[in-house]
Amino acid sequence: MKTDRSHALFTRAKDLIPGGVNSPVRAFKSVGGEPFFAHSAQGAYLVDVDGNRYIDYVGSWGPMIAGHAHPDVLAAVEKTMRDGLSFGVPNALEVTMAEAITQIVPSCEMVRMVNSGTEATLSAIRVARGVTGRNRIVKFEGCYHGHGDSFLVKAGSGVMTLGLPNSPGVPSALADLTLTIAYNDFDAATQLFDEVGGDIAGLIIEPIVGNANCILPRDGYLQHLRELCTRHAALLIFDEVMTGFRVALGGAQQRYGITPDLSTFGKIIGGGMPVGAYGGRREYMAQVAPSGPIYQAGTLSGNPVAMAAGLATLELIRAPGFHDALERSTHALCDGLEAAARDAGVAFTTTRAPGMFGLYFREGPVETFEEAKASDTARFNRFFHAMLERGVYLAPSAFEAGFVSSAHGAGEIAATVAAAREAFAIAKG
Ligand code: PMP
Repeated sequence: MKTDRSHALFTRAKDLIPGGVNSPVRAFKSVGGEPFFAHSAQGAYLVDVDGNRYIDYVGSWGPMIAGHAHPDVLAAVEKTMRDGLSFGVPNALEVTMAEAITQIVPSCEMVRMVNSGTEATLSAIRVARGVTGRNRIVKFEGCYHGHGDSFLVKAGSGVMTLGLPNSPGVPSALADLTLTIAYNDFDAATQLFDEVGGDIAGLIIEPIVGNANCILPRDGYLQHLRELCTRHAALLIFDEVMTGFRVALGGAQQRYGITPDLSTFGKIIGGGMPVGAYGGRREYMAQVAPSGPIYQAGTLSGNPVAMAAGLATLELIRAPGFHDALERSTHALCDGLEAAARDAGVAFTTTRAPGMFGLYFREGPVETFEEAKASDTARFNRFFHAMLERGVYLAPSAFEAGFVSSAHGAGEIAATVAAAREAFAIAKG
């Protein structure tokens, strides 16, 4: 496989950008080797600057649920940008977006647009602290909520890949206010709330964990957290930056029938443009400036081009049967990979939700962060590279979820499974 151009760009980039990348996981540190540089993308495919073509299971880390460069999304962007790129005064598309989100996610009675998932989560905990007058927050080991100071405590994803349990630059006085417990452990949550429930402003969770590979909630677990939060007057915050609009149109909260107090979003609602959002109960959101005293702002928030891309994407995924088809494709992919691993005699299992999946080089089931960490990462890394050489791009870390889009058809999935049959033999070592 030719990689000269990517290599030359990476060499230049490393001198100018920390690690050569603008977001750590892109550097391939976890899997080894060098990243490829994208030239273009279309549907389920990415093309790199050396002309190699890959079936893409990363989808820009989630936004491209309708496939890359969908004509409807491009048309909306082109039409909108002709009227100007940013106004700094309100525009109609922001209202349409707020209507769309509040219709699709009924727990969000009001919503505020921001520019990334990170901004959404750090704003949401500010609201939780502001409305409760309490300082402590609860998060889960292995859950990632962006790079806000309060969240870089036992975060998964890139932080884990790089072996940074915490980050220099986060004041311990702030980190001390973040309490962490094990995901899917009913008793740990009960005990924590029994001990300090009266100090807890909010509990934030990825309802399906997508940043420690992919871990699904045990039956009744999210309901248990809902009840604890209600009993102790703490806010339940669902971080649906990854799961929102993906695992069901209304996200994980619709799939599991739970009503959080606040929710955070990103990725899909920007259709590939930089966007985030947070929303929730009216009584809480009404406390946000300028209607209330909790300050939060953004020069480019509600950007018209980003709103247009997001609205066009929402339009596509609102089509009847969209998420059922996504679920079928995800199952076909995961079933095919499991069968190929079985035939190759490799210990392997998958976890799945509609449009997202986890790959584990170990026997299943995987229901906890400890079990997720016990995946054979050396095997994953060999598998990753063998797949890449065969034109399949998986997330470049054993601890990231993969994504399926509506552009991944039977042909792409069959080609992926065929590549995996060879790659498992290589992964086995
Ligand atoms: N929350 C979750 C669940 C995420 O997966 C991510 C990013 N992958 C974030 C928050 C942060 O979003 P962003 O990278 O847009 O800041």
